[in-house]
Amino acid sequence: MDEIEKKPPMRRIATEEAFSIPEHYDAIRALAAAGSEEPDLVMWRHFLGNSRPAFVDNLMDVDRQRLRTMDELGVGMHLLSLTSPGVQMFEAGLAAEVAEAANDRLAEIKARHPDRYAGLASFAPQDPKRAAREMERAITKLGLNGFVLNSHTNGEYLDEPKFRPILEAAAGLDAAIYIHPRVPPKPMADLAVKYALESGHWGFQSDAALHVLRIMYSKAFDDFPNLKIVLGHMGEGLPYWMWRLDYWHKNGGRRPPLKKLPSDYIRENLMITTSGMDWAPTLKFGLDVLGPDNIMFAIDYPYQEARLSVEFMDSVDIPDDVREKIYHRNAERIFKIPSAPGIAATGAKENA
Ligand code: MN
Repeated sequence: MDEIEKKPPMRRIATEEAFSIPEHYDAIRALAAAGSEEPDLVMWRHFLGNSRPAFVDNLMDVDRQRLRTMDELGVGMHLLSLTSPGVQMFEAGLAAEVAEAANDRLAEIKARHPDRYAGLASFAPQDPKRAAREMERAITKLGLNGFVLNSHTNGEYLDEPKFRPILEAAAGLDAAIYIHPRVPPKPMADLAVKYALESGHWGFQSDAALHVLRIMYSKAFDDFPNLKIVLGHMGEGLPYWMWRLDYWHKNGGRRPPLKKLPSDYIRENLMITTSGMDWAPTLKFGLDVLGPDNIMFAIDYPYQEARLSVEFMDSVDIPDDVREKIYHRNAERIFKIPSAPGIAATGAKENA
């Protein structure tokens, strides 16, 4: 028996895994049917059809095919989050209701499959005070593991002063906010739709990266030094940009002063995940500039192929202790997921 066979399989926690609930689907469908101009609806056009598209079934399923796919690939846990564009497109009351329903459902899912699922809570920035209350409920009452925000809300980002209660809540609860992309606001999206570049192909990353820079220049990381923001897709380009951000921060003069350099905040306040970026050069670059404690594994189920992500992370040429941090140790730390070596590998007993 060689070395590799003797080792127990590594726990795999996937951290950007989408789910949905009927209330969310219905609300999006109603917006699309009402002829909303929201650019996100361009890619959600399926919702106007009569029957529910298969990918929506995959989003809503947490008991059948999702678990089978996880078992086949040895993925122990999905950290679930309400699929993009979340509740960002809805009016305040509906947005809060859908977010709260999604959080209740996540708590039920966790209770049903405690070894297989963790969850990121949604909140509706449209009503910042209610959002902050829901954030507290989600962590302290429902036991969820952090937050998801699908980037901008009606073209506004978390740097706006009215959203301070949200950043304060996240920092106070010591719970990270995963900023998941959505299509950029209409003026920016309109420049990209000609070639369908407004979503995952390009627009997602430019909007999500801008969101973090706006938070940074609002001095939020100075005011809340423990505030943690998570970005998917290997950091939405920001790690690659660190040197140039520092250069122009020091030489530009027009930007607000900050206590530290942009690259410091990116290293200290940002975590990145591998979602939808199964490519060794970007992972190695991320490890080089951020270190092994700031990168987490993600698949982006059901939008991207789980097998590709697992095969990539299993085979990429990095030391096993680093692989272990990316596969589960960093997620356990950031999202307060109990380390459970006994059910580490596949959790297959549950479905055997
Ligand atoms: Mn995603």
